[in-house]
Amino acid sequence: GCEKSSMAHNGTAHPGQATRRGVCLVISAPSGAGKSTIANALRASDTKLKHSVSVTTRQPRPGEKEGVHYYFRTMEQFEAMAQAGDLLEWAIVFGRGYGTPRAPVEQALAAGHDMVFDIDWQGHRQIREALPGDVIGLFVLPPSLEELERRLKGRGSDHPDEIARRMAAARDEISHWQEFDNVIINTELDRAVAEARSVLVAGRLLTRRQTGLADFVATFGA
Ligand code: 5GP
Repeated sequence: GCEKSSMAHNGTAHPGQATRRGVCLVISAPSGAGKSTIANALRASDTKLKHSVSVTTRQPRPGEKEGVHYYFRTMEQFEAMAQAGDLLEWAIVFGRGYGTPRAPVEQALAAGHDMVFDIDWQGHRQIREALPGDVIGLFVLPPSLEELERRLKGRGSDHPDEIARRMAAARDEISHWQEFDNVIINTELDRAVAEARSVLVAGRLLTRRQTGLADFVATFGA
């Protein structure tokens, strides 16, 4: 069925739909900026949006599930995946490996599903090179340094060394903000989510991505 209401709502049931390749929305931010909350909200309102589940060598945190939040692997397994070319991108952060499995991404994009990635600036750089033209970068800034520190203290230990380490990592991540196509400040969650959604929609509508419209446009004789 191709009803007008669904066409107007999600913009997918139009003539270019059959052949549209999915976009990669890469969201990066210092931890504590609200990146995962924004990504979750996007997926909740768009069931076709898929989340790229990364591989990591770190231990699961309470509540984290294998295959949902991460694929938890040993460093040996991680290195084997990287060497075999099974990772689209990977990075070592504080001695732990993080990487994006290649096959699910390639399958999803070819099937026309958009994907959201919660990866760091190193992953964003590599994935832009691996998938030229498919990546929309979105950087999320916290409202202030004080607010970021407050949120980081709420996570994990309150040990001053640990806080200092997290703040240094946050500053390092933030220093790469200009590498991204889009940047938002997460002062108010609802607005940040609406802005992130707009970025995704605009990415889907890029002319260069809608090659599938050529036959449709030809019917106008233009
Ligand atoms: P956490 O251990 O808190 O889940 O994640 C730590 C950092 O690793 C976050 O900045 C997160 O975005 C990043 N990260 C998670 N998965 C990947 C990945 O597959 N590749 C890269 N490059 N970074 C990742």
